[in-house]
Amino acid sequence: MQTLVLGDLELTAVSDGTYFLDGGGYFGVVPKKLWEKKAPANQDNLVPTGLNSVVVRNGKQTILIETGIGNKLSDKMAKIYGQPAKLIDNLASAGIAPDDIDIVINSHLHFDHCGWNTVRHGDAVVPTFPNAKYYAQHGEWEHAHQNQRDSPSYLTENYDPLVKSGQMTLLRGDQEIVPGVSVRVYPGHTRDMQAILLRSGGKAACYISDLIPTSAHIELNWVMAFDLYPVETIESRKRYYAEALAGKWLTMFTHDPAIPWAYLEKDGKGKLIAQTP
Ligand SMILES: [Zn+2]
Repeated sequence: MQTLVLGDLELTAVSDGTYFLDGGGYFGVVPKKLWEKKAPANQDNLVPTGLNSVVVRNGKQTILIETGIGNKLSDKMAKIYGQPAKLIDNLASAGIAPDDIDIVINSHLHFDHCGWNTVRHGDAVVPTFPNAKYYAQHGEWEHAHQNQRDSPSYLTENYDPLVKSGQMTLLRGDQEIVPGVSVRVYPGHTRDMQAILLRSGGKAACYISDLIPTSAHIELNWVMAFDLYPVETIESRKRYYAEALAGKWLTMFTHDPAIPWAYLEKDGKGKLIAQTP
């Protein structure tokens, strides 16, 4: 478990474990000969994929960014992806109980990003974090209810009970959640995927989610085949890199199995590299 101090904020990287994605889906048009050097695949072409959440503490509130896969997958989905379900144990190891979480922010509502939002309790689906206010984008929630290419990735029980009870707030575009913690929409992976931007003491960190899922994806054109709008992914990355490199932002990776965060820099040849703190 890694921790880091960013101004007045304390960041803790907490994982829900490792699951598996097909390397072709993961790296899109990039030839396997190139990507397998950075992300070795197994005999079934599956690449181990991290499920990184970040806990942010500001002295008043405990904020959880992203909630992994959770423990409610169907047998069929668990067979395809695995269902490590380690987040609650790993939070406990960091001294954090579900009751302690004041705010949950989901970058988007695909099953591997909001799975621990809720748990099953008998026949009911209840919030895992009973005291938390949850946040997601309104456009993302609308999209989750449209029958589109990625609809198998949306499991309504991860968010609809929270929207219905009023515990989840649906945001419309860029917004500050609490001082120093804001969200920014970066279209590409989905139309309304949001990154979570932290600022304190002149420093910044950004949970960039599936816009740049791992440190192996930082090359501008290394875009996932899962992305609904790959050309917009590249445009959003340009916008992100311009700010993040100039401002020396810490980039937090949602799916990197080894590196939860790194500073992105250009090497002598102008190639982007990830430097761990
Ligand atoms: Zn996604």
